[in-house]
Amino acid sequence: MSPTDSYTRFVNRPFGKQVAKTIGLPRPVPLRRHTPGDRLASGPILVIGDTEAGDTIAEQLWAESYDVRRDPGLKQKFSALIVALDDTAHPRDLSERVLQVSTALRGLEPNGRVITVFREPQDPSVATDANIVAVRHGIEGFTRSLAKEMRFGATTNGIILSQEVTMAAPAAQAALRFLLSGRSAYVAGQFITISSTAGSLPTDWDRPLADKVIVVTGAARGIGEAISETLARDGATVIGVDMPAADEALTTVMNRIGGIAVQLDITNENAATELIRLAGQRFGRLDGIVHNAGITRDKLLANMDAARWDSLIAVNITAPLRINEQLLAELGQGVVAENFRITSLASTSGIAGNRGQTNYAAAKAGIIGMTQAFADQLAQTGGSINAVAPGFIETAMTDAMPTATREVARRMNSLQQGGRPVDVAEAIALFHADAAAGINGTTLRVCGQSMVGK
Ligand code: NAD
Repeated sequence: MSPTDSYTRFVNRPFGKQVAKTIGLPRPVPLRRHTPGDRLASGPILVIGDTEAGDTIAEQLWAESYDVRRDPGLKQKFSALIVALDDTAHPRDLSERVLQVSTALRGLEPNGRVITVFREPQDPSVATDANIVAVRHGIEGFTRSLAKEMRFGATTNGIILSQEVTMAAPAAQAALRFLLSGRSAYVAGQFITISSTAGSLPTDWDRPLADKVIVVTGAARGIGEAISETLARDGATVIGVDMPAADEALTTVMNRIGGIAVQLDITNENAATELIRLAGQRFGRLDGIVHNAGITRDKLLANMDAARWDSLIAVNITAPLRINEQLLAELGQGVVAENFRITSLASTSGIAGNRGQTNYAAAKAGIIGMTQAFADQLAQTGGSINAVAPGFIETAMTDAMPTATREVARRMNSLQQGGRPVDVAEAIALFHADAAAGINGTTLRVCGQSMVGK
């Protein structure tokens, strides 16, 4: 498994670049990823739209000494373009700002960012005004299409503000920083909805998880290992859980990040009780859990047997459901923090379906449903629950695919490459931060805008 695949390395050398250009092959570039201390953008940020959201964003970025511009000018270079569309009332209102984006796009640097900011299309207070509903849906379509026109590692994503929420909300600020930074390297053509003003800003944006104690299941390798490392980097203490057979690998990971290794099969009926007992004993608290452990048992349904179906459902959806119920029963009663955060691994297979994966897709779509179902209960005490749906991620699992299938799957997205486990981990880390409390019940795709969709 290589962090940058061999094709991407080839087309980024002079000869390979020329070959790819001449015969029109995809030309993926190495993506900008986050390292602590990084600025959100290295060059000017253009904020288009003199709206409430546009002004708030510009003021916040100015306050942190970013080079903020409000006019595209002529032949300017930009690291990011933020398009405030929170006041639009009719599709014809889009023209002026969209054409400003068009002018500025030519100066967008490699790995640059375009972020649209607008209001919720499903807002019940405007549901009967067809013009407003149409334009808000229109902005979604615009954002998704522009994301497909990006080149050289640049991405386009959107921030959706619910009814009473403004860009001053902690979760809106957290989402903006996430999308501007290298933390969102493999997030393209997606939307982050800010549903409330809940949450508080960190004292240090580089350590948003300071003092948190978080359980990560399936932490011994792959995406779970990356999640554990990323949460620890951001200040959390990790309780890593994995099967007894994975103990050596789990202990190595936990020793590296100062976490605690726990051998536990999550399908065990008492798994949550055991985790609460352990967290209470060691730390006196538990702030969150990441349901990452998962298995695949692929077979066409015609060849499916009970063992394959049942074992997958037991690990991938029954265990997270049971653990959540047990944790929520203990909410705010001592160990389990009132503002408890839950995140889970869904999958693009759970959104689009995938041949040979009826069991896996049922479980992963179930995760998306579970995320919506627990959201209100958690929000009542300042908590949240969200899911991340990875697309093609470079792991041992995808490394084992036949070469041709893997190569096609890898290129079938707007960034023309696979993501890395850390890309999934960055989205999980966002959801566990105090600032992100206002993002709740959502599923964020980390898939480079995979062509696979509903
Ligand atoms: P992986 O197989 O490399 O790691 C999964 C870990 O979970 C292993 O260490 C395994 O021992 C552990 N585990 C399995 N059953 C367990 C149980 N009953 N109790 C405790 N631990 C258990 O998988 P990965 O590729 O890192 O995937 C992690 C998650 O991301 C999974 O939920 C997977 O479905 C999801 N996902 C992965 C991809 C991808 O491209 N790799 C794409 C979409 C979703």
